[in-house]
Amino acid sequence: MTGEILCVGTELLLGDIVNTNGAFLARELAALGIGVYHQTVVGDNAGRLREAIELALSRSDLLIMTGGLGPTCDDLTKETAAAALGKPLCWNQQAYDRMAAYFARTGREMSENNRKQAMVPQGAAVFQNENGTAPGVGMEEDGKILILLPGPPSEMEPMFLAQVRPYLAGRTGMTFFSRTVHLFGIGESAAEQALRDLMETGINPTIAPYAKTGEVLLRVTAAAPNQQQAEALLAPAVEEIRRRLGRYIYGVDVGTLEKAAVLALGEEGLTLATAESCTGGGVAQRITDVPGASLVFRAGLCTYTNEMKRSLLGVRKDTLDIHGAVSADAALEMARGARAKTGADIGVAVTGVAGPGRSEGKPVGLVFVAVSSAWKEEIKELHLARGSGNERERVRRLAENHALYAVLQIIQKRGSR
Ligand code: ATP
Repeated sequence: MTGEILCVGTELLLGDIVNTNGAFLARELAALGIGVYHQTVVGDNAGRLREAIELALSRSDLLIMTGGLGPTCDDLTKETAAAALGKPLCWNQQAYDRMAAYFARTGREMSENNRKQAMVPQGAAVFQNENGTAPGVGMEEDGKILILLPGPPSEMEPMFLAQVRPYLAGRTGMTFFSRTVHLFGIGESAAEQALRDLMETGINPTIAPYAKTGEVLLRVTAAAPNQQQAEALLAPAVEEIRRRLGRYIYGVDVGTLEKAAVLALGEEGLTLATAESCTGGGVAQRITDVPGASLVFRAGLCTYTNEMKRSLLGVRKDTLDIHGAVSADAALEMARGARAKTGADIGVAVTGVAGPGRSEGKPVGLVFVAVSSAWKEEIKELHLARGSGNERERVRRLAENHALYAVLQIIQKRGSR
């Protein structure tokens, strides 16, 4: 199947907003094995929109459009697309009821204009909008599929994943199954380089990379008539990724670093305590975001001042005077202290300079992560700044990631003693 993407909006055309919908959909369609050869942006102009729709449908099996589904008069997508397929717009009570419920839930007044959003092309499938007002629409005519989605990414992306993916699967007679391989400690481009041949030649399954802050996710997707066959297609690809990048992989379908850490602690019957400075409790927060954390997490000590590092964690005065709070020695003593004070099996500590200014004469982005257990202790010195602008949030997030990863690694090392 060939597909193309048409994003509607004068703001996009003028460069006032970046076309992230185009990038998202291109990645998603590639992951589904749908070849995308054209992407187009048009402004809010009925004539040019009609032309773009007709051209796209003349050369592709599938057209996905985003934007212009709103209630105002420059929102022309639905009317124009319906007209291009020769379909009248009809009232859809379910879409209206959903929209009314959304307005009630968010305490906003529904305007007369919003009623227009409950009109959908005759015979179309309606994708309900869980995060906004404009429903999405799927239509089929003469073997061509036309899908209309709302512009805001926060509405479009969940709608695509939860409703459009299964809709497309139904149209192709196939079901799509994905596995996500989680990597840490390697950048997106290095991961791509290692897998380039598989990514370029892979049609079924496909491999698509996604970068998160400091992490890379590889989504491997297979299309097959049933799950068993899809699994059989997926397994060798996941195995090959393991063979090439195994030392960076911390899990498959594990969700997040914190979920993987909680799961691994639970499986091994181990408990954790955190001692944090520059991350301000961020590691503890992420651990406790995971349901079931209470079984493995004993305490999080957020010790921001030197005095508290000493009194709550037992960090030595000499260590702080000689090496400073941002040092390998202080990090290790914090991790040991967290373990000793709480009786946890593993103590993990983070201390560093998140910025924007230097601290103790040390540069922004210098972070020490230490982990302590009865079987092993480790310290990592990290340089997390890129050197541009205020990187406080990014440095903190990356430092948390490294701390969570250090926990995973030390659990692994216990197993391989
Ligand atoms: P609404 O129901 O909010 O009116 P809509 O479907 O009419 O949605 P638009 O009015 O076209 O969507 O766009 C609303 C906002 O969504 C834009 O201001 C922009 O912030 C975002 N948006 C629209 N298209 C894109 C795109 N292609 N990429 C990224 N963001 C987009």
